[in-house]
Amino acid sequence: MAVEDLKITCPECGETGDLPVYESVNVTREPDLKNAVLDAGLFTWTCPLCGKTVRVSYPFLYHDMKRRLMIHFEPDGAQNSQELAYMTAASGLFRGTDYKLRTVQNYEQLLEKICIFDQELDDRVVELCKAVLIRELAQEHPELSIRRALIDVRDDRIYVAFIDIDEDVFAIELPDDLYNRLYDLAYDLIADTDTDTFQTVDTAWATRTLSAFSL
Ligand SMILES: [Zn+2]
Repeated sequence: MAVEDLKITCPECGETGDLPVYESVNVTREPDLKNAVLDAGLFTWTCPLCGKTVRVSYPFLYHDMKRRLMIHFEPDGAQNSQELAYMTAASGLFRGTDYKLRTVQNYEQLLEKICIFDQELDDRVVELCKAVLIRELAQEHPELSIRRALIDVRDDRIYVAFIDIDEDVFAIELPDDLYNRLYDLAYDLIADTDTDTFQTVDTAWATRTLSAFSL
């Protein structure tokens, strides 16, 4: 639901306009909004006079009722008291349910999180896989400086794309056997990490978890 309009001034020609700002996006009730999140249309204003596009970023809650998922998009870690109150209320609402509550800090992470849950994967196990693969790559190919890894889906296949220090990318298919092994190995151990607060489940979380459980 759009709660307010953001006033935008075109940096090219000075024309002004409004972009609706959403506090929460319920993609089950409004599937069109999901597409607008995925193609960034929700965050893009196009100048009606000169065609210049302006990209904005603001915190909102992504809510998928079907997948029982809430992702709090919190760009740049900015969080105001209103946001915090809203998240706390949402946490309380879903306490004791099997809802997944996640926080992401940038648009890339948001798209990846949506992709992972759309593939019906467990994002914690996926992050553990990524951390293991990055660790193995660092051992076998110390010349590669892998900075991060992202899940990507092409032609119904799930890939892990590794991005190095120069932003060069190479990808491998997510190994089923690794996913299944870590799922079995780690599931009981990490079950209690899925609590009733919004959590950041990223590669840093996975690296900490691997080391905590000596995996
Ligand atoms: Zn313009």
